[in-house]
Amino acid sequence: MPTVIDLPFARPKLVSADRVIPYLRRIDASRWYSNGGPLCVDFQAKLAAFWGLEPESVALTPNATIGITLALNAHGIKPGLQCLMPSWTFVASAAAVTAAHLLPRFVDVRPDTWCPDPAYVEQLAKSPDVGAILIVVPFGAPIDLDVWDAVASRTGKPVIIDAAAAFDTLRHGGPMTVPNCTTVVSLHATKVFGVGEGGAVLSRDTELAERVRILSRFGFNGSREAQYRGGNAKISEYTAAVGLAALDEWSDARADWQAAGALYQKALPSAISDALWLGQSWVTSTLSIRWPGLASDLAGALARKGVGSVAWWGEGCHVQRAYADCQADPLPVTRQLGQSVLGLPFMRDMTGQDVGRVNAVLIEEWEKVCGV
Ligand SMILES: *Cc1c(COP(=O)(O)O)cnc(C)c1O
Repeated sequence: MPTVIDLPFARPKLVSADRVIPYLRRIDASRWYSNGGPLCVDFQAKLAAFWGLEPESVALTPNATIGITLALNAHGIKPGLQCLMPSWTFVASAAAVTAAHLLPRFVDVRPDTWCPDPAYVEQLAKSPDVGAILIVVPFGAPIDLDVWDAVASRTGKPVIIDAAAAFDTLRHGGPMTVPNCTTVVSLHATKVFGVGEGGAVLSRDTELAERVRILSRFGFNGSREAQYRGGNAKISEYTAAVGLAALDEWSDARADWQAAGALYQKALPSAISDALWLGQSWVTSTLSIRWPGLASDLAGALARKGVGSVAWWGEGCHVQRAYADCQADPLPVTRQLGQSVLGLPFMRDMTGQDVGRVNAVLIEEWEKVCGV
């Protein structure tokens, strides 16, 4: 008999309507609904300050997927060239590269960083077939971005950082500083700072950020004559209203996420808590575990107790039908991670009882796999 899943793997909780209403009243008063209105300008400036950037360094987009595509477009990469990227990522990364008229070429990741090896990527990037490189910040965990700035400057090939889950990791004074490489953050409901749908392109090169903004408003730059072949990727004042209200309560939200992680950590033996993809200096909205056995076995054991789980990145992009014909290296680490990494229930308002249910299964199943 199938068990009902009564503890889901995620239960997003965005800012409440009550907190948004004052901002909605401002929209009523201004009668300005989109096209870089006052709330959008304010949201952009506040996000920029949060990440330690100038307001002109942030371009808001409808989501991170479109943001990555526009970032690639803004770099003017010739269509049809390859984009080196990990297969070990959410499929949105490959979708964004494809939408930019580039060909994903999948490389493996290192087992410690869940990121491609910089020296190897640099070697491949010397080929004239390669137009760009996309590097993913894995589930918000800080990576060395200086090394990717160096690869970009030595090869002359743009490196785009898919930092979709790294809203907090990139905070001003946080564990990872916004690099010179163009960087994209997601503000989706399932991410740590959600506005429903939203994204931001971050660039220390304000001309590049401006090009993203121009591309997101039909290629207009001060007149009604299109200067570039852009589209419509603006955000409305309603999205900015939710974002501004969410920023007002961000420190509370962050504390909730941190508390949820701490609940897991303090109740688990260290062997198991060391396997959690969790850090002390950053928060994100997912909690994956590197399971010593098969992720599917753990998922089954959790489900029998009514606990949900999710393989956030599945077994990578290269196994998915839409991308199966893309060029790919041998990907042994990606394959291994795909079979062993599982996302556990994680939400802002997790109770000790919720976490206790998950941990009981983790401890019992760990014993079966590892015998201790
Ligand atoms: C969430 C996510 C995306 C897509 O972000 P959207 O804002 O939903 O488009 C892209 N890449 C990674 C690694 C993600 O986690």
